[in-house]
Amino acid sequence: MATNRTFTMIKPDAVEKGHIGGILNMITEGGFKIVSLKLTQLTVADAQKFYAVHSARPFFGELVEFMTRGPIVAAILEKDNAVEDFRKLIGATNPAEAAEGTIRKKYATSIGENAVHGSDSDENAAIEGAFHFAGRDMF
Ligand code: ATP
Ligand code: MG
Repeated sequence: MATNRTFTMIKPDAVEKGHIGGILNMITEGGFKIVSLKLTQLTVADAQKFYAVHSARPFFGELVEFMTRGPIVAAILEKDNAVEDFRKLIGATNPAEAAEGTIRKKYATSIGENAVHGSDSDENAAIEGAFHFAGRDMF
């Protein structure tokens, strides 16, 4: 996958509250092209693997429970400088620290239930995108 792509999930909290449309609108208004898109649900094994880097943290169990409790929207996004620009668009992990105009400022409720995921590197964007989508579903 090219380095102008990133991977996102609209997390279970935002899907439950009916924010799929609002978040996708902020993403496209932010200049990102949707390359792949689907509604799906993570298994416990998926979530443990996805957030393996946090497995020793005290919130890991809570994080896995949260991420698997309902459907998510998975998407691959394209834009110049996609990974960094998307992290800017989503805002800080803790919505209390997220800048005005960011997705987390508008839709996140807490540091745990923070509405969206954004890849933290080109390498992880490629791994995460390929986990969810086959080449024929990337446009
Ligand atoms: P993400 O990887 O989901 O895009 P992030 O990169 O902003 O989020 P990370 O440090 O990678 O933040 O943490 C992954 C996720 O773990 C957070 O998005 C949040 O849902 C959860 N998390 C992080 N820190 C805490 C915490 N102190 N308490 C509860 N949950 C947390
Ligand atoms: Mg992260």
